[in-house]
Amino acid sequence: MYLKQYEQGRTFIAKLNYESDLLEEINKICISENIKAGSISAIGAISSLKLGFFDQVTKEYLYTTYTYDEPMEIVSCSGNVSLKDGKPFCHLHLIASDRKGKCIGGHLTNGTAVYACEVIIQEYLGEDLIRDTDEQTKLTLWK
Ligand code: ZN
Repeated sequence: MYLKQYEQGRTFIAKLNYESDLLEEINKICISENIKAGSISAIGAISSLKLGFFDQVTKEYLYTTYTYDEPMEIVSCSGNVSLKDGKPFCHLHLIASDRKGKCIGGHLTNGTAVYACEVIIQEYLGEDLIRDTDEQTKLTLWK
């Protein structure tokens, strides 16, 4: 078990630009505002979607499996920001629905194009929240 306590810091509200890369834009905000720990949520619409899935047997992310070149709603996008290699790093998961309401979800990676997106970032203040390679899972987890 890993447990730390933080105080609330700044709250950011952002509207992302049309056709920007969803993960890149949120990462840019966290880097430019030097947000070292926080929570992130976003809703909106996307024109393409690229998600990853971590294969627990091969210990690798499969990125090409969930690529959708079609408009979708962001039903939910949530995650956190912590420090990786000394820089703010966002870890986000996303659920998106197609025109029939069918959903797909996974680990957000670069390559998802924004149609419209509203993002809220809540900063947490306290001890550095550091992410590093975990030997057991091969994921980069909080240390
Ligand atoms: Zn993930």
